[in-house]
Amino acid sequence: MTQLDLGIPGIRRDPARMPSTVGRPDTAGLIDRFGRTARDLRISITEKCSLRCTYCMPEQGLPAIPRENLLTATEIARLVGIGVRDLGVHDVRFTGGEPLMRADLAEIVGLSSAVADGASISMTTNGIGLDHRIHELVAAGLTRINISLDTVDRDHFARLTRRDRLPAVFAGIEAAKDAGLTPLKINAVLMRDTLAGAADLLEWSLANGVRLRFIEQMPLDADEAWARDNMVDAAELLDVLGARFTLSQPHREDPSSPAEEWIIDGYQQQGVPATVGIIASVTRSFCEACDRTRITAEGTVRSCLFGDDETDLRALLRSDVDDETIATWWRAAMWGKQAGHGMERADFVRPVRSMGAIGG
Ligand code: SAM
Ligand code: SF4
Repeated sequence: MTQLDLGIPGIRRDPARMPSTVGRPDTAGLIDRFGRTARDLRISITEKCSLRCTYCMPEQGLPAIPRENLLTATEIARLVGIGVRDLGVHDVRFTGGEPLMRADLAEIVGLSSAVADGASISMTTNGIGLDHRIHELVAAGLTRINISLDTVDRDHFARLTRRDRLPAVFAGIEAAKDAGLTPLKINAVLMRDTLAGAADLLEWSLANGVRLRFIEQMPLDADEAWARDNMVDAAELLDVLGARFTLSQPHREDPSSPAEEWIIDGYQQQGVPATVGIIASVTRSFCEACDRTRITAEGTVRSCLFGDDETDLRALLRSDVDDETIATWWRAAMWGKQAGHGMERADFVRPVRSMGAIGG
């Protein structure tokens, strides 16, 4: 199998090739050349998934990562500790692939929260099987959860995810609410097939006390079917929602949040005006405020979803170097972060890895 089949980009492994830090001030945080500081850490822990969402995975799933190439629970927790203690990370989020596919997820959460020192520990999940594991995860230190759900129509769900598992997702959502992980956020990717059901999804969210955020689809599908001309953008969604709801001028909860929150007139949630979030990643890019740093399931730092240049920390974790050396490499990797995704440019090239192989 070639490197391209695996969807693995060029990786800096040679210790002599630490990314350049020319011009970088000597500060602890994960700063870059464009004045941003990364404090939000996304760690992918697996490439496996129980669904095959068409905007993410290929029908047959991603090629399996050999077990010895995956970071262990102890290695993940060591990186979380370095991130929080030495690099200023505030938020740690586990993702994938589907995090619930890892049998040792509670151990990962437990070891990580023990060194997270006040940082939030959360997870993005499709919710399948969550009802069986929520208690061990909360006991281990999970504080927040986002669940992905694109439609409440069972046929649409089955077509979009290539699996008839909507009842299992509902069970996961109920379990998360019962466990007190509220307000629960639901992420929905905007697709042409499900656009007509967007208002139904919002109505369901309001009735079920969850906070819905729509996300514009990015060119990160393994099937490479994304086309700018055919993607559903935020403006089109607002037209559809506007036919059933009255939405007022949006605001951002905090400047680094990618979601613009629109107030839904006449609705309340948890005692405050209800909102619907729209993350217009493609048409209203928020790259200039991006505060993310990502670690792939194989232990490489990825400074941007769209930046294929990765820096290997796994080899360092498995050598006898100290935490400060790992922190130095991580800082160097982030110093090289690109200005933006570049989708608006004529010479834009999709990244080699698809979303499920990066960790969304
Ligand atoms: N399996 C988990 C889930 O679905 O929540 C975690 C991994 S998934 C890659 C993380 C998030 O990325 C999900 O909310 C998913 O909807 C989103 N996502 C996947 N492919 C995307 C794409 N092409 N454009 C925008 N968002 C995408
Ligand atoms: Fe799996 Fe999440 Fe990708 Fe869907 S979006 S295929 S649930 S990793």
